[in-house]
Parts: sequence; structure tokens; C-alpha cells
Amino acid sequence: MIQYKSQAEIEIMRESCLLVGKAHAAVAALLKPGMTTLQVNNLVEEFILDNGAIPSFKNYHGFPYATCISMNEAVVHGFPGSHVLKDGDIISLDIGVKKNGFHGDSAYTYAIGDIEASIQQLLRVTKESLYLGIEKARQGNRVGDIANAIQEHTEKKHGYGVVRELVGHGLGRELHEDPQVPNYGKKGTGAKLKAGMVIAIEPMINLGVKEISQLNDGWTILTKDRKPSAHFEHDVCITSGEPDILSSFVEIEAAEKANSNLTWSYGVV
Ligand code: MG
Ligand code: MG
Repeated sequence: MIQYKSQAEIEIMRESCLLVGKAHAAVAALLKPGMTTLQVNNLVEEFILDNGAIPSFKNYHGFPYATCISMNEAVVHGFPGSHVLKDGDIISLDIGVKKNGFHGDSAYTYAIGDIEASIQQLLRVTKESLYLGIEKARQGNRVGDIANAIQEHTEKKHGYGVVRELVGHGLGRELHEDPQVPNYGKKGTGAKLKAGMVIAIEPMINLGVKEISQLNDGWTILTKDRKPSAHFEHDVCITSGEPDILSSFVEIEAAEKANSNLTWSYGVV
């Protein structure tokens, strides 16, 4: 059942969603070759706790860490650990926080050092597709309109693989609420969008095939062909007018641009 939010609840959620962006930006300023992904996780966890929130993912259905860190061919749900960041890696960092009873949830893929042009394009197109999906997040449209916009740009236009098994979702008091928000589908299908809905839109886009496999840690999702995958996620509130993006990449992109150890993926805002 879809949980519609009041204006007061939306403002509480905005604080959670913006805090996720600040956590991203804090770590984006520090990312560099030589760091381990566990160090990245610990920086984020400390930031979240210091800001009076709790990490949404820790212990969620048994997930053991505060963040999901998915390197290169990992799509999502990767474990932080001993992997040492190196030039040419991409790192998808997914962060969730719960504050004042509501979750924020946002993912961003960072490029360490210089990355191949084909991978840089994957990041750019995936982020573009997120904003094309958001453009359709309007009262009266349906979830399929968002899904179709993402699929058209990534799969139809650029030949990338759109993961089928993992989808975006409603967001609120629960980390995952109805409706599901796929990154593929037909226009005019699926749940109708109404003011007060908050959804996490999160294209997970593979450079190669759409098929995935899972590591025997029970969590980490990899591309079947082991080619890289990108992930960008915003939290969006449906209104009677323009889509209201509750999360923000502004500080993340500023930190990314200022950090000479990163390649700036692409900026829309
Ligand atoms: Mg997420
Ligand atoms: Mg999500």
C-alpha cells in the first residue's frame, strides 16, 4: 500500500535526504587511491552518527554495514572491505539514513583517477537517465512513464544493460515502501503518481549485458559479464507541479570537482 506523506512529513524527509547528500559530499572530498572501501564506509558511518541519524542499511535484513559499496563490476549491495581504491576504479556508494523517523536514500558512482572513456560515458548516461526519469515524476503520470524514460535513454539509445531484478521504491518511515519503481517498462503502465508520494528513483545500468549474478556472501550483485555498472539515486516527491527532488547532488558534485583524485562524472544541477 502506498503511504502518502503530509507536507510536514515531507519537510522532515527532506532533512534526512539532504543529510545523505552531505554524507556523500564529506567522503567525496576525501576519496583517493590507496583508501580501502572499509575506510570509506567508516567515514560515512561516523558522519551519519555525528549528525544525529542512524545508518538505514546496517542490519537491514541482516546487511552488516552502514553503506553499500559496489566496485566496478559490482552493481549494488557490495560489502565494504579490504579492496584498495586504485586509478581507473569506479565506486558506487549507496547511503541511507534514518532521522526523526524517516529515511533518506541516495546513491552516486565516483570515478577514481582517470577512467576509460567508455566508462565515463556510462556514468554520464546513467546520471542523465535519472534526471529524464525524474522529469516524468509528475502527478497524473504512471510509474511506467519514469521507467520508460530511463530505459529509452540507456538501453535503446546507448545499448546498455538495464538490470531487471532490482528496482527503485517508495520511501518514508520504511526504507522500501510501495510502489516498486523499475528502470524499464512501458509508458502509461504501473501505479499512478499522486501528490504526497515519495519515491527513490535509481537506475542501475550495466556497460554490457543486463544479466546479473550474486556473490556467495548473499548480498553483492555483479554483472554477469563482469563489465562495469553505474548507479545514481535521488529521492523525489510527487507534487501538483514540478517534481520536488528531496535529495541533492549539489554538494557532492562540488566536492567531486574539487577533488583532483576524482574524474567529475557529469553535472546536471
Ligand atoms: Mg540507495
Ligand atoms: Mg534505494
